[in-house]
Amino acid sequence: MDYGKILEEIFLKIQPYSKEGRQATYIPALANVNPDRFGMCLCTIDGEDYCVESADVRFSVQSISKVFALAMCLSLRGESLWERVGKEPSGTAFNSLVQLEVEKGIPRNPFMNAGAMVLADILLSSLDNPEEEFLSFVRALCGSDSICYNREVAMSERETGFLNAAIANLLKYHATVENDVERVLDFYFTMCSLEMSCRELAKAFLPFANHRDGFAYSGFMLTSSQVKRMNAVMQTCGFYDEAGEFSYLVGLPGKSGVGGGIAAIYPLRYSVAVWSPRLNGKGNSVMGMKALELLTTETKESIF
Ligand code: GLN
Repeated sequence: MDYGKILEEIFLKIQPYSKEGRQATYIPALANVNPDRFGMCLCTIDGEDYCVESADVRFSVQSISKVFALAMCLSLRGESLWERVGKEPSGTAFNSLVQLEVEKGIPRNPFMNAGAMVLADILLSSLDNPEEEFLSFVRALCGSDSICYNREVAMSERETGFLNAAIANLLKYHATVENDVERVLDFYFTMCSLEMSCRELAKAFLPFANHRDGFAYSGFMLTSSQVKRMNAVMQTCGFYDEAGEFSYLVGLPGKSGVGGGIAAIYPLRYSVAVWSPRLNGKGNSVMGMKALELLTTETKESIF
């Protein structure tokens, strides 16, 4: 398969959508990003990389960080993790409070904000230096020691994150989180502020594509069965209330973030990451989704 040529063609084909959607501005620091950037990188499990445009420019991974936090929590807690957070699609926005109230403080899944705050809480309770250990884990996954949090983005979200603060307080009220609400929020926003390029994200997702081997990075181990199950959660819950649409159009397990990134995998073949800051109404990258839809259509490779 000539992925290099296919990626170049996709970049040309998605140009009509280049002004569709709007970048996230509810996190003030994200409003400074040039909305016209685009990058894409595909890494095969045989060790080939194919990149187009700004594939080496780092951006705010935001909710894609939830995948890494889930991997660490699964490694630490195993199946007992699911007593604290569900694994069902929510059908609601990533920052929805509605179900959390009705379902007595147990988030539907680890990829909505409430669920990721439970992951943050577990890491805070289990690790001596959660910020450092999270960063070391992702650095090991992507093989790059220079990726970092962006303090300005984290602080900017902290100052305006009233809805996330409400979610954290509701979790605390129901005793789903153990740690201090402010500490949980700080760590959650810090993880979201991680910056990576498409190439680094694709590399970090490659172990999920290569699920047969399981993996061990920076002291966190997952069996092949756990990796496979994480992919199932990405498939059903990775795109909030657009998980069905993403399955329908793209057909790959993946995860999006409001920085405009999407990372996805085709099991036993490749991982792929794409970045374009303009989002649709559900908070997913317009060009990113279009590019991935074309990728699985042109290659006739999807899990369906
Ligand atoms: N930090 C963002 C928030 O909590 C992450 C949301 C996202 O990327 N979908 O709103």
